[in-house]
Amino acid sequence: MAKDYYEILGVPRNASIDDIKKAYKKLALKYHPDRNPNDKHAEEKFKEINEAYSVLSDPEKRAQYDQFGSAAFQGGGFQWQGDFGGFGGFEDIFDDIFSTFFGGARRAERHRGRDLIAEVEVDFEEAIRGTTKTIQLKRKEPCSNCGGTGAKDRSSIVTCSECRGAGQVSISQGYFSIARTCPRCNGSGKIITATCSTCRGSGFESRSRSVTVNIPAGVESGQKLKISGEGEIGLGGRPGDLYLNVIVKPHPYFQRRGDDLFSEIEIPYAVAVLGGEVMVKTIDGDVVLKIPPGTASGRVFKLRGKGASSVGSRRRGDHLVQIQIFVPQKVTQEHKNLLLKLNELEQKEFTGQKEGFFSRIKSLFS
Ligand SMILES: [Zn+2]
Ligand SMILES: [Zn+2]
Repeated sequence: MAKDYYEILGVPRNASIDDIKKAYKKLALKYHPDRNPNDKHAEEKFKEINEAYSVLSDPEKRAQYDQFGSAAFQGGGFQWQGDFGGFGGFEDIFDDIFSTFFGGARRAERHRGRDLIAEVEVDFEEAIRGTTKTIQLKRKEPCSNCGGTGAKDRSSIVTCSECRGAGQVSISQGYFSIARTCPRCNGSGKIITATCSTCRGSGFESRSRSVTVNIPAGVESGQKLKISGEGEIGLGGRPGDLYLNVIVKPHPYFQRRGDDLFSEIEIPYAVAVLGGEVMVKTIDGDVVLKIPPGTASGRVFKLRGKGASSVGSRRRGDHLVQIQIFVPQKVTQEHKNLLLKLNELEQKEFTGQKEGFFSRIKSLFS
């Protein structure tokens, strides 16, 4: 069945390539399957429009069609040799529709946005409890002045003279003719005669923006958080992702070991010997720790459930407190006298039982 490609696109037989493109884009957007889900009629129309456009947008194919009709492209009689994909595949359709949204001049550059990597510093407690942080990011976005075309204005985007806007050129090799991406316009079909002064033709500009991110409870230093879609904007593709490298600031008292927290506390000698109570800082605030009589230096007490939890878990680890006996660096005369008296007593009690007591006090030398 002969098809009238001009009628399908609704253009006259002498329509310019630009008119054909315009008509095609309008119809392709109207009948695009994404906009007409489960509509058989729209799907058929869409295929028809693309078939018509793939022929009429190519100067050589259009000449063949004008001479032989659509039979040349439908498997009967004359076979079109040069175009391996038949009529334009989905990629081409997507590119064309995409370039409608993005100003038309750079369909060769459609791609997913780059991933970004950034660092975020959080306090020790924030890492344990979770928090939100607002970070400043620089990323490339489509230029606000030219909308990503890279051109100074609309009139500085002209149809490529090499391919007459088709984006492809045909190279004849004997009986065959092979379609190649136009080297002059890189397949866009357009040439930019004056570049945008804001982005100097790149189509992008670097913009600072703030992103608020959730830092999950339990995050540890060195962990990477993936924030989907917060990377650079892709041209036509998905945006990239943002990878946040978390740095947890050290705490003056606590260290983290997996889900457990660890701290040291110095207690007076008398409390260690006689027992007592001591205030211990935990992530939940101060708690009272009972010191049993005869507590040795280095002993570790466990405060259950006062630790951290790993990301995504509710189970909390423990807080381990290690006891150290406080040793003053300087003492008053009164303090010294008491220590000498204490030593005298301990010498009597322990010499002969404990190795360390075969010793002398320095101030008693001479
Ligand atoms: Zn060209
Ligand atoms: Zn620009």
